[in-house]
Amino acid sequence: MVKTKDKKDKTKEDSKKNIPLHIYNTLTRKKEIFKPIKKEEVRMYTCGPTVYWYQHIGNLKAYIFSDLLKRILIYNKYKVKHIINITDVGHLTSDADEGEDKMEKAAKKEGKGAQEVANYYFSLFEDDLKKLNILPPEKWTKATDHIKDQIDLIKNLEKKGYTYRTSDGIYFDSSKFKDYGKLAKLKVQGLRAGKRISMGEKRNPTDFALWKFSEKPGLRQQEWDSPWGIGFPGWHVECSAMSMKYLGEHFDLHTGGEDHIPVHHTNEIAQSEAATGKKFVNYWMHEAFLLFKGEKVSKSKGGLYTLPELEEQGYNPLIYRYLNLLGSYRKPLNFSPEILDAAKSAYERLKRKIIEIKQTTHQGEDSSQEYELKFLEAINNDLNTPKAIQVIWELINDVSFDSRKKIVLLEKFDEVLGLGIKEMKEEKINVPQEVMHLVEARERLRKAKMWAEADVIRERIKEFGYIVSDTSDGFKIDKI
Ligand code: AMP
Ligand code: ZN
Repeated sequence: MVKTKDKKDKTKEDSKKNIPLHIYNTLTRKKEIFKPIKKEEVRMYTCGPTVYWYQHIGNLKAYIFSDLLKRILIYNKYKVKHIINITDVGHLTSDADEGEDKMEKAAKKEGKGAQEVANYYFSLFEDDLKKLNILPPEKWTKATDHIKDQIDLIKNLEKKGYTYRTSDGIYFDSSKFKDYGKLAKLKVQGLRAGKRISMGEKRNPTDFALWKFSEKPGLRQQEWDSPWGIGFPGWHVECSAMSMKYLGEHFDLHTGGEDHIPVHHTNEIAQSEAATGKKFVNYWMHEAFLLFKGEKVSKSKGGLYTLPELEEQGYNPLIYRYLNLLGSYRKPLNFSPEILDAAKSAYERLKRKIIEIKQTTHQGEDSSQEYELKFLEAINNDLNTPKAIQVIWELINDVSFDSRKKIVLLEKFDEVLGLGIKEMKEEKINVPQEVMHLVEARERLRKAKMWAEADVIRERIKEFGYIVSDTSDGFKIDKI
């Protein structure tokens, strides 16, 4: 009997080892087994924020995704070297190398220095990441700290004959790069024939700026001397220069939002591979958009909500993380107050259940291996977090499973999910008397159906740092 059991356990152990990580590679449009270039370390680059404005919750979806990927790699026992850049120059208002530099425009509007603006929005972004349990990268790389590296890359491309000069800058000649557009499966011929893209003096519609000249040197806040004249680097060149500097000319993973496929990442591949003659990145991974009423949430259109705005409405940031985990990173997430509320109820239910388990000392079976296997199967199947969450609920509701062992396992799974399971405990908040008086006054007004007056009191409660919300069991007070 004992022998059979041992054998069964061993089979389970073996099959666990045999669940390789599969990820969807945009380059091949296939789910592939992940094989790192170097056994000892996975190298990964994520396109970071353009820091001229608040990051909206759509932008944050991109970093929740890259964080999950990184945590899953770590769970699979890989050491991960992760770089995220900060775009603080060169990102123009149009992807066709036209329009104003977003940073310069914001600095002018706010009457501040471009770096002051960049540092301000970057520090808010870092706060958001902390609240969402997003692990920081090994290094944040700022575009303006790497001007020389970008100039060197352009010089290299020039030497190899990939560049040409126009009156406003130095451009990459995409017709000279054989595989141009392979990531996006661009029909370059079609683009060349069409008139959709503004050409200026470009030779081909898909050519892009490597270096832009300052229209009138001295007018821009951020400009540098270069072999071609005073100006600033194009947006794409920063990511190639910085990723290759820190991760090598050929590395494992590159992530970003799906909007980067046809232009930004396509151009990164072209200029990097043209410069080195090597394959740039093995796996390209992209997350789908956060949508609102069917449209992409975008900064230029005002951006829906920021994370602090959700907090003000009484949503713990981890509810937003949980909402993201309920769907596949490759499917668009249709945002609505209703789905956020549904995620909030589910997250709070999860929290209540976990606190309950932490408080019980029920002795039962050890089903850890079985659930570990199921969990690994889910996450190693291209980050199938909806399935992983399902496994978590199955485990929680398994009455025969020992409660202590359950918690150990849930905390282990949370190294991937990042939902703050370890920290979940009964919260006792001491609400000051004056706030309690206001809450009671609001209740009276609500009973009298004096909604507008009740809302005024709700706002006053907020000024004290508390938020009162209404649930099916009555009102609830939380700290903001
Ligand atoms: P940005 O700060 O504009 O350079 O964007 C930062 C990241 O957010 C990029 O990876 C974008 O692809 C991503 N992103 C922008 N809008 C959305 C959206 N609505 N949903 C998901 N990701 C987005
Ligand atoms: Zn980038």
